[in-house]
Amino acid sequence: MEAPDTGVDDMTKLSYLHEPAVLHNLATRYGIKEIYTYCGNILIAINPFQAISHLYDTELMDSYKGAQLGDRSPHVFAITDVAYRAMNNEGKSNSILVSGESGAGKTETTKMIMRYLAYLGGHAAAEARTVERKVLESNPVLEAFGNAKTVRNNNSSRFGKFVEIQFDACGQISGAAIRTYLLEKSRVCQISEPERNYHCFYLLCAAPPKEIEKYKLGDPKSFHYLNQSSCYELVGVDDSHDYLATKKAMDIVGISVEEQDAIFRIVAAILHLGNIAFALEGEDSSVLEDDKAKFHLQVTAELLMCDLEALETALCKRNMVTPEEVIKRSLDPLGAAISRDGLAKTIYARLFDWLVKKINVSIGQDPDSKCLIGVLDIYGFESFKTSSFEQFCINFTNEKLQQHFNQHVFKMEQSVYQEEEIDWSYIDFVDNQDVLDLIEKKPGGIISLLDETCMFPKSTHETFAQKLYQTFKDHKRFVKPKLARTEFTIVHYAGEVQYQCDQFLDKNKDYIVPEHQELLSTSKCSFIASLFPSLNAETPKSGKFSSIGSRFKLQLQQLMDILNSTEPHYIRCIKPNSDLRPEIFENVSVLQQLRSGGVLEAIRVKCEGYPTNRIFSEFLERFSILVPEVLKENVEENVACKSIMEKVGLSNYQIGKTKIFLRAGQMAELDGRKAKL
Ligand code: ATP
Ligand code: MG
Repeated sequence: MEAPDTGVDDMTKLSYLHEPAVLHNLATRYGIKEIYTYCGNILIAINPFQAISHLYDTELMDSYKGAQLGDRSPHVFAITDVAYRAMNNEGKSNSILVSGESGAGKTETTKMIMRYLAYLGGHAAAEARTVERKVLESNPVLEAFGNAKTVRNNNSSRFGKFVEIQFDACGQISGAAIRTYLLEKSRVCQISEPERNYHCFYLLCAAPPKEIEKYKLGDPKSFHYLNQSSCYELVGVDDSHDYLATKKAMDIVGISVEEQDAIFRIVAAILHLGNIAFALEGEDSSVLEDDKAKFHLQVTAELLMCDLEALETALCKRNMVTPEEVIKRSLDPLGAAISRDGLAKTIYARLFDWLVKKINVSIGQDPDSKCLIGVLDIYGFESFKTSSFEQFCINFTNEKLQQHFNQHVFKMEQSVYQEEEIDWSYIDFVDNQDVLDLIEKKPGGIISLLDETCMFPKSTHETFAQKLYQTFKDHKRFVKPKLARTEFTIVHYAGEVQYQCDQFLDKNKDYIVPEHQELLSTSKCSFIASLFPSLNAETPKSGKFSSIGSRFKLQLQQLMDILNSTEPHYIRCIKPNSDLRPEIFENVSVLQQLRSGGVLEAIRVKCEGYPTNRIFSEFLERFSILVPEVLKENVEENVACKSIMEKVGLSNYQIGKTKIFLRAGQMAELDGRKAKL
């Protein structure tokens, strides 16, 4: 037996496979900086919040190469190695799904997976190494534009990501594709204490003087989109260094100097745009508030290379189309500010999409690749005081992934039982299909109802809520909270979440103000104009409603289709405390995360079946002392095992072809008997 103070490296080795034992084991290991532990085939990774020396060295990579899972201590390299070998040996695509709550370490884990894959499938010749370099350097570029400091994580990814790494017949990296999901657009215009906006804004404000002058930048405190929070700097981060590092990474992924100029010009323009403030004129019109606003309007127009007056009109006025004519209607200052923020968000989102597309084109796809390894780094389950449309989509994603996980874990258990030809038919597993139906069923699910509501000009979030209450009043996964008028609760697999309908309609509409579209599609900067291709070419039918929810659902289905065609491996990242500090392990929160990540469910499935199995000889070696005479009888090993169980008075176990399968607690019972001898 292993020494008690170091824990066991695979939870299925525990004598008692229950929650306190699982927690105790993880805490013990975390205490001695063993952040990785297996639970069968699942890897649990607890964020150390400190660099652990030699944990990711090249020497360590060498030692994991080709090693069997379990031969060496648990590690993200071990899982990746298994995936890579399975791909090479069986010619089947594999995927590694990394999940966990914000700050749990998903992105860092994903980067280690990518580094290890680049090490395994890298090219010997320096000139051939560009593919893997591009793959690795895509990370800092996407992080600069898609990550921000939040309450939960100083470098929080505000988008989901699936990286598909393609390999040729020799197992070398031959291409890659990056897909991203749902960038948090609202952050561009709205941040709260003590968070920050996307890193790129601060990087640019810390650029060398020449750039600062060119983009008419200055102190980040002077920009409305940044000064809504008093946090400007991050501990341990040097923005001016990171600005140059980001540009270098952009060089490597193939973004030209001209493109980089346009990109940062847009970033600067967004900051100036945010400083265009409006004041009331007359009863309900708006004008630029003061000279400062005028200055920023002018700089924005220069940077976006568009007409100054057209920009002002696009911000302050709207076209009203009547059968006879088009009338320009003024917006009040609040309306103009909303219009301005909408423009900023749209530009930023298009810029981010451009970056992803560009990186994909530059890395290149290998059309001949038969095998790939997909790496998923996606937001974990979220439940806030006010959960909105974003949380709804995120939790929908997690329901989908949970179903995939359950089916897989269950299948894995079954396959072991089948191999050993034992009876397993009575183990059931919790299926969350009913929650998925509630959300995505077409027609009739929440997403469908939301789309229908959005298409009705007169609907409001109240009418949407009423529709939900009526439709799902008997659904066991749907709850109308007492006294609620615009809230609803979904009973997710990981717990109940109450959603606030307020902004569901707005956030679901994928809409660009035609005046903004018109303005930017005619920009003299071809880069900017290309982000806003003319409407006629893009929109299929005029007036056709495009919904974020439905598009997300489709994207998710495509992701699931890819995942279903691969052999999955799971890594569950755990955040040990909410202070982001090393060496603190908070039991309650860890337990909750193990639950949301499906680890406890996997353990339950194991417990309902046969959580422990032992090869006959191992079992005999350990327990024949209980019934010493069995060894004297000259019988087959399986018969000897049976005799021991019978003499000790345990039943319900099963004898397979090579192993004995024990019910939960039986191993502990046997150990207890031994201790009493
Ligand atoms: P989010 O959902 O907000 O993007 P995340 O799960 O991707 O969160 P990471 O950004 O990967 O979280 O990790 C948060 C921080 O924790 C990192 O910036 C780093 O400081 C620390 N960290 C994570 N994993 C490790 C590790 N293996 N070793 C050392 N530090 C780590
Ligand atoms: Mg992340």
